[in-house]
Amino acid sequence: MDYKELASILFDKDVETPEYYEEKFPYRKLKNNAQVTRMAPSPTGFIHLGNLYSALADERIAHTTDGVFYLRIEDTDEKRKVDGAVETIINVLRYFDIEFDEGAGYKAEAPQNTYGPYFQRQRVQIYHAYAKRLVEQGLAYPCFCTAEELNKVREEQEEAKELTGYYGKYATCRDLTIEQIKERLEEGLSFVLRLRSQGSPDKEIVFEDKIKGKIRLPENIHDIVLLKSDGIPTYHFAHAVDDHLMRTTMVIRGVEWLDSAPIHYELFHLLGFKMPAYGHTAHLMKFDEETGGKRKLSKRKDPELSLDYYRKDGYHPYCMKVYLMTLLNSNFEEWHEKYPDKDINEFPFSVEKMSQSGALFDKDKLHSVCKNEFSKLSEEEVYKFLHTWAVENEPEQAKVWFADQEKMMSILRLYMGTQAKRRRKDFIYAKQVFSMLAYLFEMPKEVASEYHYDKELVSSVLHAYLKTFDFNDDNSAWFEKVKKIAADHQFATDMKAYKKNKEAYPGSVTDIAEIIRIAVTGYENTPDLWSIIQIMGEGQMRDRITLSMNQVVASTK
Ligand code: GLU
Repeated sequence: MDYKELASILFDKDVETPEYYEEKFPYRKLKNNAQVTRMAPSPTGFIHLGNLYSALADERIAHTTDGVFYLRIEDTDEKRKVDGAVETIINVLRYFDIEFDEGAGYKAEAPQNTYGPYFQRQRVQIYHAYAKRLVEQGLAYPCFCTAEELNKVREEQEEAKELTGYYGKYATCRDLTIEQIKERLEEGLSFVLRLRSQGSPDKEIVFEDKIKGKIRLPENIHDIVLLKSDGIPTYHFAHAVDDHLMRTTMVIRGVEWLDSAPIHYELFHLLGFKMPAYGHTAHLMKFDEETGGKRKLSKRKDPELSLDYYRKDGYHPYCMKVYLMTLLNSNFEEWHEKYPDKDINEFPFSVEKMSQSGALFDKDKLHSVCKNEFSKLSEEEVYKFLHTWAVENEPEQAKVWFADQEKMMSILRLYMGTQAKRRRKDFIYAKQVFSMLAYLFEMPKEVASEYHYDKELVSSVLHAYLKTFDFNDDNSAWFEKVKKIAADHQFATDMKAYKKNKEAYPGSVTDIAEIIRIAVTGYENTPDLWSIIQIMGEGQMRDRITLSMNQVVASTK
């Protein structure tokens, strides 16, 4: 058959040649070994922790090698498209401090966008150039089979327990003559363009996956669809053309694509493209309490898969980034501890060290990372972060919390501790911080902790405390008075003596201070109580103690 004629029938005259695009998008001039990576999401509007995890890997791979990280939007599926999804992707990644060097987030004419367009729907002419070439070479053909026909074939294959799909003897449109094709076109039948696969079922492809190691898979034998009936490419074909022309050197993508690797291998070879390196990332896993095993994080069951969850609750993006780094490379944590002052971007990231079996997402671990990283931020940074979060998420409360900037700063200094090496680690995420600090702004409805002593003693201690309290006492004068209350109630004031002979006392001065602490703050553990009272003011403190006394008296305990 005259394939050139077929190509000229199927494609517009003004489709450019592949050579035109090869010249237009030359190899990038980058340092040896620099990697070009990309994030290639479909604009469905849902972007989750797994996306962030691989985007961070892509970004690190590109930027630790002086390469390029770009954003391409895979919008070939019109049905799944959601308005504003591209902005969401860019904003979410930016929030987590991941920036693209080029691509869909920049204006088309931006100087760095030399490999665009970066929206697949705007690249249709480019795909057609390569599809046309395949037709000219006899490597692609139009297929007029209807959905019903294809279904029928699948049923037959299933019945005969054969491999399902469009291949070999089942690929009935493979051998249509040019006359038959012309007839069908004249009838106005719609068609898809299929690859004429050259693969053989008894041969294998072998490649080195950057994450999973050596992969062996049977060659592709399916005449897969390259262009759908509306001329829009499938993922497979667009992947080959785009990653080739955008000069991607490393494709990090979900493991669900691994089974399609033979298709991509064949496409790259038939199109004469150099293969990029692949790294197939395993799904993020979590410990499942029900089964005691690991399972995939699921959109339906696990709210923590959604990135909105972290923004709404106010996880600091830097803490999230550090946590994701610990998931991405198991040696990161040790490095980060060894060099606490080094910028985490200096960590020698390695794609080979990424988990093959699925990194285990663990909220407790995330929280411990958050506590640690939060404690390294300055009070000013924390103030700014909390303020921004509060204004966006709790605008009414924000007015109360931030009415007095100095008060908030003193609280932060107190809660974080001012000595660099001995900072407190109470803060995990913004919502948790404000719920912990709420008592400093409003009267608590009830105390969070319970007293460890009976109500008569608690009442008596609190009475004595109110009686002798003087707001002008400094920390040590204040504490002397607490000691006196302890002694008056036969509690030990000398800790050494107390430790030697605990049975001799109902408790120590620490227990007396705890009673006061619970009455004032509602908590057993807080930073320095005297300082809290200084911030809170005398009136507030007295009101709280009075309230606590009433509650104690009212309680039946
Ligand atoms: N659009 C594909 C997806 O969202 C991209 C896969 C790839 O990175 O190649 O799964």
